[in-house]
Amino acid sequence: MELSKRILVTGGSGFLGSHLCERLLEEGNEVLCVDNFYTGTKNNILHLLDNPFFESIRHDVTFPLYLEVDEIYNLACPASPIHYQHDPVQTTKTSVHGAINMLGLAKRIKAKIFQASTSEVYGDPEVHPQTEKYWGKVNPIGLRSCYDEGKRCAETLFFDYYRQHSIRIKVARIFNTYGPRMHPNDGRVVSNFIVQALRNKPITVYGSGKQTRSFCFVDDLIDAFVKFMQSDDHLIGPINLGNPAECSILYLAEKIIDIIGSKSMIEMKPLPSDDPKQRKPDITVAKKELNWEPNISLDDGLNKTIEYFDKMLFVSN
Ligand code: NAD
Ligand code: UDP
Ligand code: UDP
Repeated sequence: MELSKRILVTGGSGFLGSHLCERLLEEGNEVLCVDNFYTGTKNNILHLLDNPFFESIRHDVTFPLYLEVDEIYNLACPASPIHYQHDPVQTTKTSVHGAINMLGLAKRIKAKIFQASTSEVYGDPEVHPQTEKYWGKVNPIGLRSCYDEGKRCAETLFFDYYRQHSIRIKVARIFNTYGPRMHPNDGRVVSNFIVQALRNKPITVYGSGKQTRSFCFVDDLIDAFVKFMQSDDHLIGPINLGNPAECSILYLAEKIIDIIGSKSMIEMKPLPSDDPKQRKPDITVAKKELNWEPNISLDDGLNKTIEYFDKMLFVSN
């Protein structure tokens, strides 16, 4: 049995952060959730607020933060293209200044620190599936750059603090993940399609719909976060975390229509700029080093997510 720890989760009121807080509390830890509620909401953590071992702090990670913890999970950053492009300068600040502050904190208090990096560091990849050795093909000046380059710079900072200050780091490259507590207006594909299908509204497929993604259910991903954080200090990453089951966006749309039995039609819309054509994680390293692989199928994960949105939309109607 692991000893109870005090753990900071930045972005803890967001989609992934709220699931992580929940898991860390279940495992007997004390959790400090830091969030400025930019894309996260109090609803995501409402059920945790009564727990005396949970603390919610409103704070923007681009400003310094002084507290004492054993571990830090740095998740603060809007993740949906609509949200991170809404205020791109703030997005870069969150990734870069946020990383500097959290690394400065980790350095002062000698805490272990996990970084939620992203498959977007590979950009529109020429290597398929993507391995951690691939350096990526990222446009430095496009609409997605605030996120992609912000996250790339954060990785640089993590590795420089590791080399220069011997900080214990864990850098995870997360691939598309979905599940309950995604924001219904988040703009990401799974939540968009489910909400549209439940309302029998047109399903907005961007471009030809032939572009691919590989979708991981949130519970599988959180297992990997915790395993990675608990792994030996020599394992610093970057490690790809995601589900290698790749599908086209059109296939996803048809699958969601089919599961829901929706009357929605498919509506083709223009492809956003720099939208990656294909994405699939090579998870050989995670399998070998963490003894982890996802085991929730797309069908099972979609069913759980649809159930969540169905209840939410019913209550809000
Ligand atoms: P999310 O938008 O639901 O959560 C992000 C959280 O960070 C929100 O609660 C938001 O309010 C908070 N936040 C944003 N800026 C902040 C700031 N300056 N200070 C404090 N809090 C701030 O997104 P998510 O899907 O939960 O993503 C969490 C992390 O995982 C992000 O860093 C994201 O880049 C990364 N990630 C997610 C995915 C995915 O598919 N979900 C894929 C790759 C990487
Ligand atoms: N920092 C923080 N909390 C701490 C320690 C540092 O937020 O407990 C911030 C601090 O404001 C600084 C940043 O982290 O801007 C980087 O800290 P570091 O010690 O690496 O750099 P320095 O303070 O020397 O610039
Ligand atoms: N997408 C789509 N319709 C939508 C939302 C997204 O066709 O309503 C497409 C988008 O163009 C991209 C894929 O789905 O090719 C995944 O988009 P998302 O924003 O979820 O994540 P990311 O592009 O960051 O992988």
